[in-house]
Formats: sequence, C-alpha cells, structure tokens
Amino acid sequence: MPEASRDRSSGTFGKNMKTDPAAPYFPFYMIGLVSIGLASWLWIKTRSKPANKKKWFDVSAIVTGIYVGVFMSFILGLWDQFYLIPFPLLACVFIIYLNMRFTFFCDSCGKRSFSQSWLSRVFHCPHCGHKLK
Ligand SMILES: [Zn+2]
Repeated sequence: MPEASRDRSSGTFGKNMKTDPAAPYFPFYMIGLVSIGLASWLWIKTRSKPANKKKWFDVSAIVTGIYVGVFMSFILGLWDQFYLIPFPLLACVFIIYLNMRFTFFCDSCGKRSFSQSWLSRVFHCPHCGHKLK
C-alpha cells in the first residue's frame, strides 16, 4: 500500500521538522562541504607551481569559510537566534585568516605545511628545511 507508507513517512518528517527546523539541511550542508573540499583538493593538487597552489588554497579557504559562515547564519536564523549570528561569522573570518596566513606551499619541494608557532617570524619547511618566511 504505497498510500499508507507515504503518509507515515511524511508524518515522521513533520515531527522531525518540529523538533529541529535545521535538521533536514545538515545532510545537504555536509555534501556541499565535502564537495568543496574534494574539488579544491583536486584543483590545488594539480597546480604545478607552489605559488599557484598557495593562491588557490587561499581561494578555497575563503570559499569554505563563507560557505560555513552562511550556513551557520542560516541555521541560527531558523532557530530564531539572530543575535548570535555575528559570532560564527567572526569565527569564520578568523579561521580564514589563520589558514591563509600560516599555510605554506614550499618553493623547493612543493609540499604543504602549516606553521604552528603563530608568533615566530621565521618558518622552515618541515619536509625539506627550505626557509618559507
Ligand atoms: Zn620543502
């Protein structure tokens, strides 16, 4: 009986909607996030020059950050928590900044590295020792 089963499934869906209006969007969010991650990983991997890798890494950091920030704002809007929206947005901007500022693509060996010491002025490639800053 297709009629009855459809009624039952839409009933549970309706119940989920009531408990959390954001719940149906999370799978789409995860799919989007994974797609962005995979696409930028493949794109960056296939760039030949370290400078290009770095440029596209920055682009993907910004795109991912905006995507996460917009989704979080959207969810907070669904939850009627509008006054909380600036916090995830600021956190996203900060994470974008950290990613761009402290991720390096070595000119010498082409490998990616992330500087853990945010305050130090010099950083050497952990793979080959080439000076990165
Ligand atoms: Zn290196």
